[in-house]
Amino acid sequence: MLLGSIEAGGTKFVCAVGDENYQVKEQIQYPTTSPEETIQKSIDFFKRFTDLQAISVASFGPIEIRRNSKWYGYVTDTPKAGWSHTDFLGVLKAAFDLPIYWTSDVNGSAYGEYILATASNARLSALTYYTIGTGVGAGTVLDGKFIGTLGHPEVGHVRLKRHPDDLDFKGICPYHGDCLEGLVAGPTFEARTGRKGQDIPLTDHVWDIMAYYVAQAALQTTLHIRPQKIVFGGGVVSETFLKKIRHEFAVLMNGYQDVGNLADYITMPLAPNNGSATIGNFALAYRETKQLKSNQQPNA
Ligand code: ZN
Repeated sequence: MLLGSIEAGGTKFVCAVGDENYQVKEQIQYPTTSPEETIQKSIDFFKRFTDLQAISVASFGPIEIRRNSKWYGYVTDTPKAGWSHTDFLGVLKAAFDLPIYWTSDVNGSAYGEYILATASNARLSALTYYTIGTGVGAGTVLDGKFIGTLGHPEVGHVRLKRHPDDLDFKGICPYHGDCLEGLVAGPTFEARTGRKGQDIPLTDHVWDIMAYYVAQAALQTTLHIRPQKIVFGGGVVSETFLKKIRHEFAVLMNGYQDVGNLADYITMPLAPNNGSATIGNFALAYRETKQLKSNQQPNA
């Protein structure tokens, strides 16, 4: 069965077709420009595959995910120029008579990691995925469903206790200044130090400050949701950075709750090459085809 994936990021789009075993058959990527041009490129890509059965979209946001809203399928109030109030899903539905699943970018990645993690650990039923890159966000899958009813979670904007060596930094979130995203998103390196993150050695103290904040986010997620695994992806994350986060997490938790082996609890993605969202999309698209079939059963 041929399934379609759109990972719609604020910087680039990755479109792929693959099968229900999550194997990519073909993939393209291109920069995110205007909504008209960018969405049309995905349509042109998928039109080449006449046997496509379903598509799933994992989009940057904020997006409207309430199916009963008249804005369902829209990118809503986004700082991304030109994209506010874009009817993303509507344009796709006009182009394809197929089931199309619609969710946030981090939900797509969370689902991909959930699928991979449950394949190797049948007892796993709750997983949170954070991305720390240009922005910060997280999605949580619980028993195969996403958390978030009025909207998708916006964990990137939680408030944190400030690190004593970082009190002069105001943060870069246009809404809150020093929320999580305002303190640890990729562009904060340049705002703090004048240097890009990739040019700052992991021995620099700024990484300890970053780890202190990300560990607080992991702690709050742990205390609130109690997932079995927290996965960190995105351009800022590395195994060395995760080691610092685990250390800060253990200090903050101070033995209060057991999360098992920290190296298994706070981890890098299982999907290689930032592929979590594509795998998640294939799985979600496949799920849509199964739901379509069950809806077509009489008296089902
Ligand atoms: Zn914020």
